[in-house]
Parts: sequence; structure tokens; C-alpha cells
Amino acid sequence: MALVQCPECAKPVSDQTGRCPNCGYPVAQLFRRGIEIDLNAVESSTGRTCSILSIIFGAVAFLFCPIVFGLAGFVLGIIGVVQSKNKTAGVIGIVLSVVGTVVGMILGAATALSSN
Ligand SMILES: [Zn+2]
Repeated sequence: MALVQCPECAKPVSDQTGRCPNCGYPVAQLFRRGIEIDLNAVESSTGRTCSILSIIFGAVAFLFCPIVFGLAGFVLGIIGVVQSKNKTAGVIGIVLSVVGTVVGMILGAATALSSN
């Protein structure tokens, strides 16, 4: 239980009260909604970051250490899909990571064979 300032009349009210005893402003409702919005923002930004990293790692997997970057991109892509509401970037990251791993390994094998 914490004292917050009523946004309507600026009197200190408990955030558990529900409504401001002075002016009847729905304080608890307001603060609960504010916290929910904050959590959603954090959640979606984490998901977006993971999705973007997944796409980058997937692209890197084509050229360097396909197993390392491909696997990292795949895991980050899954986190991105689970965490964010917009799943497109995460799905792109997963697909790119899988393709990048396969193509990267084929290219790596071809390079190794041709250098022999
Ligand atoms: Zn008030």
C-alpha cells in the first residue's frame, strides 16, 4: 500500500482505496492500467530486440560460424516470437537462422573441399 497523489485534486490518496475520498477520481484503476502499459512496453521491446538480433545472427550465419550464429539466431527468434505481439520479425529471424545455418554449412563444406 502506497500513497499517491490524486491526478485530479492533488491530495495524497492510497493506491488501494480505489477512488479518491476527496473528489472521487478512480485512482487505483488509473495506476493499475499504468503499470500494465509499462509491462507491455518492456515485454514488446525485449521481443523486438530478440527478433532483430535473430535476423542479424541469421544473416551472419551465411558467412561465419553457421552453427554458432544460426543456433543463437534460432533461439533469439523463438524468444522474439514468444515475447512480442508482432511475430513477423521473429518468424523471419527463425527462418533466416535455419536457412543461414544450412547454407553456411554447405558453403563452408564447399570451401573446404575446393581448397583441398
Ligand atoms: Zn482527488
